[in-house]
Amino acid sequence: MGLFYYHYAMSAHFILGRHKLTNEPTNITTVNLTDKHNFICLDCGKQLTCVLNVPIKTKHFKHRGIGCNATSETLLHLTVKEILKKHNIIKLPNGVNYEYIEALPEKKWDKYRPDVTLKGNSKTLYIEVIVSHPISWDKELRFSERFADCLVINFSDYNRLFDIEQLQHDILESLEFKSMLPTYNDISVTNSRSDDDLGFMILLGAVGAGIAYVGYNEFIKPLIKKRRRK
Ligand SMILES: [Zn+2]
Repeated sequence: MGLFYYHYAMSAHFILGRHKLTNEPTNITTVNLTDKHNFICLDCGKQLTCVLNVPIKTKHFKHRGIGCNATSETLLHLTVKEILKKHNIIKLPNGVNYEYIEALPEKKWDKYRPDVTLKGNSKTLYIEVIVSHPISWDKELRFSERFADCLVINFSDYNRLFDIEQLQHDILESLEFKSMLPTYNDISVTNSRSDDDLGFMILLGAVGAGIAYVGYNEFIKPLIKKRRRK
């Protein structure tokens, strides 16, 4: 019994691995039997065993041996960073495409290390990817105090049956998992609200003018006519 337990403790199960030949992060659900010897750990590079002969939801890469601290969460984090590094446009929650020149994972900022720092021509965008831990309140506060734009991608409930193309779409194009941390100079938010207010005021003004016109014709005009007749 003890031996089995020991053996179990010596291996970890992951859904993500790296293809040896293409170097690409890959989800176990998209691995073919013929390709099953070609995967290594995204983190340490050790050989992975593909466990494919099971229902799709339980397919996994088995990582044997010690000396690797990878978890499913760190591997997803790592893959998100690799995807951001390979591209240069990401869609923001307001629908605008943000273009960047460089993606720097874990670059020091203040006393923190945002998951990814995207350097644009004039603006820097910080990316925080939530997998298992929320952003600490002090880090969040520091972002807003320093007027730093931070995009939060929340993958805490991400479906494990995704493929890498789906993940790439959800990071770069989809808005489903994204939100911006509020900052004190969030002009775009206040602007859109005052635009709405202006539209409402115009509508109110138009309705008011209509009522005034009808009122003039119905009540004031007859009074003037009556006076003139006298
Ligand atoms: Zn490893």
